[in-house]
Amino acid sequence: MYKNLIGFENYDEFLLNIKDAVNNFIQSMRDEKIIGSSLESEIDLYSGVEVIKILHRMGDDRRFFFMTSRADLHNDYTRPAEAKESIFPGLWITGQKSIHPKCARCWNHCPEIGLDKKYPEICYRCIDVIYWEE
Ligand SMILES: [Zn+2]
Repeated sequence: MYKNLIGFENYDEFLLNIKDAVNNFIQSMRDEKIIGSSLESEIDLYSGVEVIKILHRMGDDRRFFFMTSRADLHNDYTRPAEAKESIFPGLWITGQKSIHPKCARCWNHCPEIGLDKKYPEICYRCIDVIYWEE
């Protein structure tokens, strides 16, 4: 499936290790009282192109996988000075508390809340699901 897993034996092992590194970073945000729950965080990941490529293919599922409200990818040469080196080789992370409101259904913090008059406290993804289930 993936030609280059940067030294990991398989995709699952890669995911497990990168999730560990992100969890570790999020825990440090909680320890510093920047956030309470993981879903309050928005993170930016900086790494080499091989790591970014794999994570890029997860698309919007990435933020659900990491249990953050946002998880954006960047090439490592754009890494800001405040980025922290994670326990995953070559992965650097910055994080902040989301400024967006919390969806009442999925608890993700999302800019697209309030678009629907009938469900003003629900994010756009959840609105689709609610209408499909009606
Ligand atoms: Zn939602």
